[in-house]
Amino acid sequence: MTNVQFHPSDNSLELYAAGLLDPSMSIMVSAHLEFCGACRQRVAQLENSLASQLQQAEPVAINPQLDSMMQMIMQQTIPSQPTEPQQLQAKIKLDDKSFALPRVLQAHAKKIGPWARLPGKLQRARVDAVGDSKMNFIYMDQNSALPEHTHQGQEVTLVLAGRFIDNGGSYGPGDFVIRDTQHTHTPRTEADQDCLCLTLLDAPLHFTSGLASLLNPFSQLFFR
Ligand SMILES: [Zn+2]
Repeated sequence: MTNVQFHPSDNSLELYAAGLLDPSMSIMVSAHLEFCGACRQRVAQLENSLASQLQQAEPVAINPQLDSMMQMIMQQTIPSQPTEPQQLQAKIKLDDKSFALPRVLQAHAKKIGPWARLPGKLQRARVDAVGDSKMNFIYMDQNSALPEHTHQGQEVTLVLAGRFIDNGGSYGPGDFVIRDTQHTHTPRTEADQDCLCLTLLDAPLHFTSGLASLLNPFSQLFFR
């Protein structure tokens, strides 16, 4: 069912499979997996190869305690990856609209929001799931645009519903887009299409063009 075109890097999937991604990035990747069969398959493959590497690494002199610890580790079942987005249940509500909440965030549903308006036809709801990470739902109404900006750090965007466009392409549900200091872009929606994204920022945005640069004092709004 998937038309996902933009994916996390293989390196990110490797770190995810090994449990080494930082918790907020891990949520982003996990939410992508809910949409993307190809990456689920890749992660399962990586997990299997990690498990067999562990099995092959036989300690020379087996200390009984270590041995039983290894047994326990081996017997632990790897949690199964989320399957299809149809299983999404909890909703995130905005005005008269409601969207499926990624499963990975369902346990944190109470730590989301409230919605706040941003310049333009944008709204933001903070996700307080993981420490002080800057994770937000960003809702772009039809025919809206975020002023042109570049990034002082990394911006990870996962489309949850609808579609947005920038100079790098057109992004639909499941697309996982990473932008950093080398990219300047103006995300926008088309006249008949709104968009809900989950974003993770590690530094405030920097607005670049003309009048929009006046917004820089407000760029902290995107970074809470
Ligand atoms: Zn993918």
